[in-house]
Amino acid sequence: MRFWPDNFYEEWRERGVATELLHDVEPIPPERLLQQIWLHQRLRREGLVTTDGRPVRILHPGFWNHESGPDFQKAIIQFGTDTPQVGAVEIDLSSSLWKGHGHEGNPRYGEVVLHVIWEGASKPTGRPTLIMKPALDAPLGELALWFAAEGLPKPHAIIGQCSAPLQNLGVAALNELLRQAAQVRLHRKATQLQARARDAGWEQTLWEFTLAALGYKHNHWPMRRLGELTPWALAGSADSVILEARLLGLGNLLPRETKAGSDSLHLRRLWDAWWREADAASPLVLPRASWCMAGIRPANQPARRLALGAGWLADGQLMARLEDWLLRSVPVSALAESLEEVLAISAHEFWEFHWTLRSPRFATPQPLLGSARATDLAVNVFLPWLWMRAVTGQNASMRRVAEERYFAWPSGQDNSTLKLGRQRLMGHTSSKIFHTAAAQQGLLQITRDFCDHSNALCQNCHFPELVKVWQVRMSH
Ligand code: SF4
Repeated sequence: MRFWPDNFYEEWRERGVATELLHDVEPIPPERLLQQIWLHQRLRREGLVTTDGRPVRILHPGFWNHESGPDFQKAIIQFGTDTPQVGAVEIDLSSSLWKGHGHEGNPRYGEVVLHVIWEGASKPTGRPTLIMKPALDAPLGELALWFAAEGLPKPHAIIGQCSAPLQNLGVAALNELLRQAAQVRLHRKATQLQARARDAGWEQTLWEFTLAALGYKHNHWPMRRLGELTPWALAGSADSVILEARLLGLGNLLPRETKAGSDSLHLRRLWDAWWREADAASPLVLPRASWCMAGIRPANQPARRLALGAGWLADGQLMARLEDWLLRSVPVSALAESLEEVLAISAHEFWEFHWTLRSPRFATPQPLLGSARATDLAVNVFLPWLWMRAVTGQNASMRRVAEERYFAWPSGQDNSTLKLGRQRLMGHTSSKIFHTAAAQQGLLQITRDFCDHSNALCQNCHFPELVKVWQVRMSH
């Protein structure tokens, strides 16, 4: 379904990159598409069952391997209530390809803990097998379009062939092109939320994607899993310490020993709440290997983010507050600040003064959520979620306000992907024209739609042609 009939970028994108991919989808999808589905877990993740009838939970899909060997490495998979296993995942169209591709007897495939196949009866491979087709969270054609924006590793930072035609575009034409690309990105995020909400409901979807976004790229999957476990965490209690203890306990993030001193009081309170439940919860507890702590900034430590999540859960009003916020009139200049107020929790005596459960106390309090992360949540989760709720509820005024806020939101923190995009497309790294988060989102969408499907030399890229057609159109 098209939400913006006059979106030239979306139309071009669908005719170009996405159409090529869609042609490949039926009757047999390409393996790369299956790998993308796995990477992003576009599956109904609850109720997955192997072909021999065992429930299976994907605690981490693993890291995509673009070299020889199994498709994903270091995945974390749990069968029934067994201890989660760390190993590889291989994805094939059918089980017969295990032999057909020479995996049998190949020592590199010895570490495969799960064989994922598209469809068909499972031929014995000696590995647990999961059939993907009946577990998709959306129709395959919709997923193909969604994945048209996901691609290969980033090309090198050399100036692209679109740079010259882009520089010939006037500022207004360039801004409008970025705006249309950002519309596509909003729609793409919103359809993913909608796909999950069909199974889990809107509030549960909000928890899962909000916690996942707080995990950043390194800890997206363990945080998403804890989001999936929020109904368990909420059972019978709305006390913020109990909720924090449950989230940290389920995440395996509570240190065993407490040190003497007043700062260990909080850890003791958490253990007092958790020890009674730890045994019953043990099949759900994430392995420590799920987490990647290397290189994480102190303020972004998962335990700190989970304390914030526990505060929102205890309050129980996040969804209602976001909806109220959308209905309230807020000047553009106060958007970010007004959202930070919506997201504020009551003062946390421990986490406002610590980066981790073991770190020394600092003198002045630090906010649990900075403005950069609030912008990230707004653009990647809250506004797409509110927008899609308005669309599905046919509430035209809520939809309009969600769009206005999405396009007016001030730009977020710069990052290496944006810098690379500016270097390749604009021929420089200056962020001067990217005043809004939507302009940044538009740039990201273009690099996903085009750069990621081409190479460092821009071979077979249709974007320069699109820009030229766009320039002619805008000059009339
Ligand atoms: S691949 Fe296409 S969009 Fe990317 S820099 Fe090259 S011409 Fe531009």
